[in-house]
Amino acid sequence: MYALYMATENTPDTLLGAITYFADLDVATAFVAGLRWPNGVRCPHCDSVDTPYVQSRRIWQCKNCRKQFSVKVGSIFEDSPIPLSKWLPAMWLLVNCKNGVSSYEIARDLGVTQKTAWFMLHRLRLAIQAKSFDKFGGHVELDETFIGGKARNMHYSKRKRMGITQGKSMAGKVAVFGLLERHGQDGHSRVRVASIKSNKRRHLMPHVMDHVERGSTVHTDSLTSYVSLETDYTHKVIDHAEAYVDGEVHTNGLENFWSLLKRSIRGTYVSVEPFHLFRYLDEQVYRFNSRKQSDGVRFLEACASVFGKRLTYSTLTGKDLPQSC
Ligand SMILES: [Zn+2]
Repeated sequence: MYALYMATENTPDTLLGAITYFADLDVATAFVAGLRWPNGVRCPHCDSVDTPYVQSRRIWQCKNCRKQFSVKVGSIFEDSPIPLSKWLPAMWLLVNCKNGVSSYEIARDLGVTQKTAWFMLHRLRLAIQAKSFDKFGGHVELDETFIGGKARNMHYSKRKRMGITQGKSMAGKVAVFGLLERHGQDGHSRVRVASIKSNKRRHLMPHVMDHVERGSTVHTDSLTSYVSLETDYTHKVIDHAEAYVDGEVHTNGLENFWSLLKRSIRGTYVSVEPFHLFRYLDEQVYRFNSRKQSDGVRFLEACASVFGKRLTYSTLTGKDLPQSC
C-alpha cells in the first residue's frame, strides 16, 4: 500500500536539508502526492479512488478508467523529464533566496543546462503568482517606478534597435505600479504590483479601483495622476520636493519594496526582457508578502500551489523546447 506523506511533518528547513531529503525520489514523490491529495490519491482523469500505486515506476494505475498517472500530471511539472529531486530544491532556492536566483546558478547547482533552468524557474514563478481576490483597506500606499533599460550602459547597436538616441530617454524602461497595504490580515504590510503602460491617470486609476476598498486612506506623492483620488478615498499627499515623511503620510513601505525589487532585477536578473517582467514582479511580491514566515513554511506553501497550472515552453517563447536537459 502506498502511504500518503504528511507534508507538515519532517519537512526540511534548510537548503541542504531539502537537497538531501528530496534526493530520494520515493520521498519526493510522496511529498508532492501528500500536498496534492491530502485525503487520498484520486485519479485526475475520472476522480476514482481505486488507484493502486506501482512502486517500481512511481505511477498510479486507475482501476476504473485504466489510465496511468504520475504525481506530475496536471501540475507545473507535467511533461518535464526533470526529476522532482531537482524541481523541489529549485523551488527552495527561488522562494528563499532574498534577491532571487538566476538560471545560471540553478544550472550549476542542479546540473541542468541554463536553458532548462530558465524554463524551470518560469514554471516555478507561475506557481507562486499572486492571486488577489480581496481588496486592500485601511492605509494604502500607492507609487510608481520605472524598471530596466539603462540606456547609458547599453551598446550603441541595442540603443539604436530600441529607438533610443538620447542617453536619458525613458525608452526601454517599463513603468510599474505598486500598492502596499500597511497592516494586512496578519498585521504585516503586503504589496501588489503591475506593469503599466505609463504613469498617466488613465493607466493608474483602474488598478486603484480594482485593489483598494473605497473609503480607505491612500498615501501618494504629488504626481498629478493621483489628483482625482479624493472622490473615493481619503487622499494624503507627500510632496517629495519638500519632505519624504510627514507623520504617517509617506510611501516609504513601497520605496523599500522598490529597492528590494531593483536589487534583485539588477543583481540577479541582469537581462530581464520587458515582456517577461511581470513574472519577476510576481516572484518578488511572493517573497515580500511571505517574509515573516520561516523558509520551510514559505517553501511548503509554494509547493502546495504547483497544481492546476501549466506553462509550456512554446507559450513562454513561441518556440519548441530544445531537446537536451
Ligand atoms: Zn481514472
